[in-house]
Amino acid sequence: MCGIVGYLGKRDAYPILIKGLKRLEYRGYDSAGVALLDEQGDLRVYKTKGKVADLEAYVADKNAGGTVGIAHTRWATHGEPNSTNAHPHVANSGNLAIIHNGIIENYAVIKRQLEAKGVVFHSQTDTEVLVQLIDYVQTTRQVDLLTAVRIALHTVIGAYAIAVLDKNNPDVLIAARKSSPLVVGIGDEEFFLGSDASPIIEYTDRVIYLNDQDVAVIRRGHDVEVVDFYNEKVEHDITRVNLNLAQIEKGGFPHFMLKEIYEQPDCLRDCVRGRINSEANHIALSAIIDHKERLTKARRIIIVACGTSWHAGLIGKQLIEQYCQLPVQVEYASEFRYSNPVISEHDVVIALSQSGETADTLAAIELARERGAFVYGICNAIGASIPRATHTGSYIHVGPEIGVASTKAFTGQVTVLAMLALALAWERGTVSEEEYVRVIAALNEIPDKMQELLEQGEKIRDISRIFTYARNFLYLGRGYNYPVALEGALKLKEISYIHAEGYPAAEMKHGPIALIDEEMPVVVIATQNALYEKVLSNIQEIKARHARVIAIVSKGDDTVSQLADAAIELPSTEECLEPLLATIPLQMLAYYIAVCKGKDVDQPRNLAKSVTVE
Ligand code: GLU
Repeated sequence: MCGIVGYLGKRDAYPILIKGLKRLEYRGYDSAGVALLDEQGDLRVYKTKGKVADLEAYVADKNAGGTVGIAHTRWATHGEPNSTNAHPHVANSGNLAIIHNGIIENYAVIKRQLEAKGVVFHSQTDTEVLVQLIDYVQTTRQVDLLTAVRIALHTVIGAYAIAVLDKNNPDVLIAARKSSPLVVGIGDEEFFLGSDASPIIEYTDRVIYLNDQDVAVIRRGHDVEVVDFYNEKVEHDITRVNLNLAQIEKGGFPHFMLKEIYEQPDCLRDCVRGRINSEANHIALSAIIDHKERLTKARRIIIVACGTSWHAGLIGKQLIEQYCQLPVQVEYASEFRYSNPVISEHDVVIALSQSGETADTLAAIELARERGAFVYGICNAIGASIPRATHTGSYIHVGPEIGVASTKAFTGQVTVLAMLALALAWERGTVSEEEYVRVIAALNEIPDKMQELLEQGEKIRDISRIFTYARNFLYLGRGYNYPVALEGALKLKEISYIHAEGYPAAEMKHGPIALIDEEMPVVVIATQNALYEKVLSNIQEIKARHARVIAIVSKGDDTVSQLADAAIELPSTEECLEPLLATIPLQMLAYYIAVCKGKDVDQPRNLAKSVTVE
């Protein structure tokens, strides 16, 4: 969700904090702020509504000195986005400043209790309650900062990553987390904090990924100390991050989203590297090798995910059912967690999340584990909470995804699901050798075919221009391409704010056809597979109602191309892998329509990259 950055060291904190916030800009936010402690012990806090650039402009003529500081981009949950509600929040004593990512669920009760004791509040946020509580504990009980933070964290319920600065302890930064990510970077006599490693990697590759209920004490001249809420020492690993700056910069593209769309062939090569042995046409996934018994004996698979990952899950269902002959259920994690689901130790739950921090998916995992299921995570962000909360899993290895609208993570997830389905089917003996080898060979060819599609970028840009007028769009697909239709519609909604619906093509007659007229373009994935003829009839029905049709067709298909107003050709592949190709033109269509409409593609309104709150 929001972004947290912290610095304590020998350099000026402000430029490092601002740069760090910019690296986290992709997470989506509505206001920004910074708190700095200078050598004289003065605490300065600057906050504004808007972007990091607005904060920079606001601070430009002000004193921004100090070698300790914390900074934040807020994605409002409690209280409207304005400069008062922006973080950092300062306690009434004037000593403490806090930044917080997440939600304090019992803030109202604590607020009332503190108000009854005379504490005055200045913002509408849940976060201010936490800093006033720490302040109250510190002043009334005369305890040190760490103790006050621990006591306060015992009282609050919710999800948080926090960093606290204390005027009376200018050489200390305290950070803690529960259900929200937080990373400590360790440099040479300096320390960094970040919601992820991206603000840190420029300075050091040594990091500590904090776990839930860890409190990190960062003290000038000392090693980082990690304790739990009871002050018991927690052993922590210092890991080396394998990320470079080029991966988190735009590299000549106007937007991260376009860069990420174009990166997909390389990403998928990385994703299958070391997993597909192309000489032997064999897949080796370490998770399946290590947990063969448990996975092959599964009686049912439940996929839990949100948003785009849920669409990847729908494709995963078809892959696993087709090849492994196992029933698969796909659930929204947010519904699953509250649905009292029937789960047994014979079930395998697959959790999909790009960030590995999605709050609902994490909660679904906890529930599944409690009820005895074996949990398999498929994530992108290395070392995130979900990979740590699952029994096993596979990373998608597509590199950092910065654009808020997911692109390469989706194709990475589908690729891992395809490998998983094939590898598991092989172990279960439910796929013939001929088919196994053929599909693996086809999977290996996908990156080159994606490349071929990306070369049609200009054509798709030209098509997009024609359709920017639309206020509504319908996306249709069948079988493996039905989830692609859902994903295409979601991409358009997310970044262009045009209302779009995805439907299984045959369902059109059961309702959406009533909406079709000349003002409602319809995108149809009409490749030559088992249901081709039926989709062809759908296109006739749409044309009879004067709507414009953008068709995704198999290479060389003149029939649909002549019927449609615009056609984009897909290279041929196995039907089960078609989503990996059909998605690409839909991503580009959404991107170019949004650009034509002048929208903020990388940071669409109201959206956040990783949804770490319910
Ligand atoms: N709940 C806090 C607020 O509304 C923090 C939100 C965030 O994660 O940015 O201020």
